[in-house]
Amino acid sequence: MTNQNGRFGVHGGQYIPETLMNAVIELEEVYNHYKADAQFNQELTDLYNDYAGRPSKLYFARKMSADLDGAKIYLKREDLNHTGSHKINNVLGQALLARKMGKTRLIAETGAGQHGVATATAAALMGMECVVFMGEEDTIRQALNVYRMRLLGAEVVTVRTGTGTLKDAVSEAMREWTSRIADTHYCLGSVMGPHPFPVMVRDFQAVISREIKAQLMEKEGRLPDAVIACVGGGSNAMGSFYHFIEEPGVKLIGCEAAGRGIDTFETAATVNTGRMGIFHGMKSYFCQDEYGQIAPVYSISAGLDYPGIGPEHAYLHDIGRAEYVPVTDNEAVEAFEYLSRMEGIIPAIESAHAIAHAIKIATVMDKEQTIVVTISGRGDKDCAAIARYRGEDIHD
Ligand SMILES: *Cc1c(COP(=O)(O)O)cnc(C)c1O
Repeated sequence: MTNQNGRFGVHGGQYIPETLMNAVIELEEVYNHYKADAQFNQELTDLYNDYAGRPSKLYFARKMSADLDGAKIYLKREDLNHTGSHKINNVLGQALLARKMGKTRLIAETGAGQHGVATATAAALMGMECVVFMGEEDTIRQALNVYRMRLLGAEVVTVRTGTGTLKDAVSEAMREWTSRIADTHYCLGSVMGPHPFPVMVRDFQAVISREIKAQLMEKEGRLPDAVIACVGGGSNAMGSFYHFIEEPGVKLIGCEAAGRGIDTFETAATVNTGRMGIFHGMKSYFCQDEYGQIAPVYSISAGLDYPGIGPEHAYLHDIGRAEYVPVTDNEAVEAFEYLSRMEGIIPAIESAHAIAHAIKIATVMDKEQTIVVTISGRGDKDCAAIARYRGEDIHD
């Protein structure tokens, strides 16, 4: 799609300090070179297949479809990837690129810890140093992932500024990159930040929709009627949408975390409650207060607890190509429990937001229609938090 100079319509761009300009220009040049390089793509495909376990399955949720008595529901199983989410698709691509650039150190931000774990994994695999920035609040919520990162050889830096969550970890990682560019690559975790990150991360995640298209064609002989994915920064959704953008018959639906509801202040539904702004190197939609300051956001899901959205999503919203719907904590928790019982699949609480919306629309669709829902990750990491939500303490 449109991305002249990293713009998606009015969104995107490179709103960064002068000191980072050389780093993003170098990254853009190297990426443009290697994305067309057959050997690079072969190496990446080998890593996807042999290390990450791709292609991920497209599973027909027979019981769930029968229970809802509407559209046929297929689940794209990114939860089955190595390290348990879609994050590895992007990280392997960026780590390989970093190695081509001669970098020996990866830094990353993380919220729920999934991107940090994926980055620490790739660093271990490629023999690189790794530092992960994580908000203090999240290191407490996701202690298991902090341990996993350290086990993998990464240093985890606790970020105590701001609200001690994902946005502060991103700010800190950008600051660190500014001060150390020569040997360090910033492995950004979503389709956000300054160009070329939104384009590059989307291209690495586009493997999801490339596979969905081929797999559904084999199973149903046609394209899906709708593709549904949850949206934090938007990388699993962009990856799930990408190869369907030019197929007008395929509805694209992103599910935002509404938290306690879009009519409350405890929400992270950026498109539904935010306004245009500039933050973390990009122009896009952000949750803001009345003075235009980035608003504190809330969601039960640490992975969706981000006050912005990637610029390509902002553009797809503007042109009406994709629809962004809010899903509350409560709806997500119910969907988390529903999918576990109904299909024997415990989804990440992030992915449960997409399941919740699929449940709403499947019932009013025809039996011949199909919906593909991306299960962006597995739910083991969320069990303690969901138990707590239900008033049970299982001591994680
Ligand atoms: C990180 C994460 C998300 C949110 O990130 P996106 O860039 O919006 O995909 C969603 N689901 C899982 C399982 C994650 O780990």
